[in-house]
Amino acid sequence: MWELKEYRIAGSVGEAVAMMRRGPGKGVYIAGGTDLFLFPPACDYVVDVNHAGMSSIARTPDGDLFIGAAATLHDIATSPLVTGFAGGLVSAAAAHCGNRPVRTTATIGGNLCNALPSADLAPALLALDAVCYIADEDSQESLPLEDFFTGPRRTVLDGRLLVGIALSAAAGERRAQARRLTRSAEDIALVQVAVALEIEGDRVGAARIALGSVAPVPMRAMLAEALVEGELIANLDPDRLADAAAIAAAECDPIDDHRASAEYRREMVGVLTRRLLASALAAATDMSPDSGNEGGAA
Ligand SMILES: Cc1cc2nc3c(=O)[nH]c(=O)nc-3n(C[C@H](O)[C@H](O)[C@H](O)COP(=O)(O)OP(=O)(O)OC[C@H]3O[C@@H](n4cnc5c(N)ncnc54)[C@H](O)[C@@H]3O)c2cc1C
Repeated sequence: MWELKEYRIAGSVGEAVAMMRRGPGKGVYIAGGTDLFLFPPACDYVVDVNHAGMSSIARTPDGDLFIGAAATLHDIATSPLVTGFAGGLVSAAAAHCGNRPVRTTATIGGNLCNALPSADLAPALLALDAVCYIADEDSQESLPLEDFFTGPRRTVLDGRLLVGIALSAAAGERRAQARRLTRSAEDIALVQVAVALEIEGDRVGAARIALGSVAPVPMRAMLAEALVEGELIANLDPDRLADAAAIAAAECDPIDDHRASAEYRREMVGVLTRRLLASALAAATDMSPDSGNEGGAA
C-alpha cells in the first residue's frame, strides 16, 4: 500500500516545478502512474503533471515534431503527425507497449523517465536524435536523449521535469525500421533494434542504430553507425552490412536473465541490425510512397 501525505495537481509547467520544489520532504512526479503504482517510491507527496499543459503533439513552424511528456502512448500511436513521421517509427513503438488500457494512461514522459533498459520508446527516439526539454524552477535545458539515461532507472533529471521531446523535421525523412523481440506480446522486450538512415541522393547521410534491452541503458551503436554513415549506397553490400551488424553486436552489453541469455540477445542484435539495415536501404532505393518505411514490428 502506497501511503502518501499529499497528491498535488499542477495546472502548468511552472506550477509543477514549484510544487515539486516546495517540499516538505520528498516529492515525485506522476503521469499515467502505470510504472509508479507497480513500484511505489518512498515519498511524501506526488505532483500530477497530466493537467500541466504537456500533452500536446504538434509540428512547429519549422516542421519539427514536438511531443509533450504527458502525451499518452495511445495518442502517440494514433496521431497522424506521428504516424506520418519517419515512417511511423515512434507511433509503432508506442503501439507495441503493453496493452490498450495501459497505453491510454501511460505517457511518453513516464516511459523515458522510468528509464528501464527495455523502455519501448527509447530506441525509436534515439534513432531519430530526439532532444529532451527539461524544466526546473529557475532553469530550462535541452539535451540529446542519448545523454538522458545514466543507468537502469536513473536519468539526469534529479527532480527536474521532463516537459517534452523534439524531433527535427530532417529526422522525419529518415528511412526507418525497427524490430522488437519478446516472449509474448505483453512481456517486456528481450531485444530492440531501431535503424534510421538519412538518404542524400546515392549516399547515406546520418545513420543511426539504436538498441534497447541489451545494455544498462538504451544506447546507440555508434561504431556500427560509423561504418554506414556517409557511404555510397552502392558500397553497402551484404558483407559491409554484416560487418556493421557484427560491430553493433560487439558494442552492446546484455545480461543473462530468466527471459534470455546474454549470448542470445547479442546474437539477435547482429541479426536484426543486418536485416533492418538491408531493408531500410532497399526502401531507400525504391522511393515510391509505399516503399516499406516500416516503423516497426512486434
Ligand atoms: C501491464 C503493463 C504493461 C507494460 N508494458 C510495457 C511495454 O510493453 N513496454 C514498455 O516500455 N513499458 C511497459 N510498461 C511500463 C509503463 O506502462 C510505461 O513505461 C509507461 O510509459 C510509463 O508511463 P506513465 O505515464 O504511466 O509513468 P508513471 O508511472 O507516471 O511514471 C514513471 C516514472 O517517471 C517519472 N515521470 C513521469 N513523468 C515525468 C515527467 N514529465 N518528468 C519527470 N519525471 C516523470 C515518475 O516520477 C516515475 O518515476 C507496462 C506497464 C504495465 C503496468
